[in-house]
Amino acid sequence: MTTRRTFLFRLIPAAGLAVAAGSSFAAGPEKASETDPTAAALGYKADASKVDKAKFPKYAAGQACSSCTLYQGKAGEAWGPCPALANKLVAAKGWCSAYAKKG
Ligand code: SF4
Repeated sequence: MTTRRTFLFRLIPAAGLAVAAGSSFAAGPEKASETDPTAAALGYKADASKVDKAKFPKYAAGQACSSCTLYQGKAGEAWGPCPALANKLVAAKGWCSAYAKKG
């Protein structure tokens, strides 16, 4: 007889495997969502022109992820991973308040 408890114990490792399989077969990191709590706290916008300039006065026109020291994308690519947002993909034309100009 399968009790509810043994059923759950069988289900949990299966779910773990599904998650592991999903991450190894995924097409790459997902895009960062502007509404993700970390992204929202940093004021991340995939389009830098949409940055809330009243809330983030440090934003200056021309700043973008592609010129940020944290941006991991290759030159010319539209998206690249960013460690400030859990290595999710951020837009080359995006911006957040952790912006630090490449030296
Ligand atoms: Fe873009 Fe830099 Fe902010 Fe990452 S830390 S989202 S690369 S501005």
